[in-house]
Amino acid sequence: MTWTANISGLVRRVFASRSKGASFPRHCSLCGYYGWFMPAGRPQRIDVRCPKCGSTERSRLMALWLSGHGQFLQDASVLHFAPERGMSDLLRRRARHYVSADLVGGRADRMLNIEAIDCPDASFECIVCSHVLEHVDDRRALAEFHRVLTPGGVALIMLPVIEGWSRTYENGVARTPEERKRHFGQSDHLRLYGADVRQRIRTAGFALEEFTAEGEDVLTYGLQRGEKLFIARTTA
Ligand SMILES: [Zn+2]
Repeated sequence: MTWTANISGLVRRVFASRSKGASFPRHCSLCGYYGWFMPAGRPQRIDVRCPKCGSTERSRLMALWLSGHGQFLQDASVLHFAPERGMSDLLRRRARHYVSADLVGGRADRMLNIEAIDCPDASFECIVCSHVLEHVDDRRALAEFHRVLTPGGVALIMLPVIEGWSRTYENGVARTPEERKRHFGQSDHLRLYGADVRQRIRTAGFALEEFTAEGEDVLTYGLQRGEKLFIARTTA
């Protein structure tokens, strides 16, 4: 594709986003774009997708944290599950070594099962995992994160949390996609996390910090109010 086709595609997408209710220009914390974001999601939300790098709110929150805390990446080997394009580009650029992974072939550098990661112990300084744990056996995945991370290594984890619930909702009755959709709102989700998700992460052997954007940053970067990034470090 030529640069003129790229530019005209970008202009077309930006005009389309304005006509669909984008409220005002935003900054992309991931790629540096400034302008209108496109709508996305079901049900559709306005001001969501960066037309340049494809980021949505969750990637921009992680990029915002990395902008102040991401110096360690230059010395880190990073394993990134279910890679989003914009975040994948950023990590590949900044990390000492970068490997993307997905359960499905052709989507990433390696085909890996997050519940049984085919990598040696202590082989990565950083794991990035956004909106995956709600789809899998998270206790096995977290134990695997702990195993493949070096002592003091960090897992950057994002997942949907219902902060008003003290307990995570799981129900063994929901075995089919239809039942899972009824119980958990999405046919491929296995639970709805409550605030106790923090304890699940700690139980796997991690010390936990969390980050959310507040005030004007939410407007500037087009973020979800109160969305959390969990920063889980292995305790040596
Ligand atoms: Zn962007």
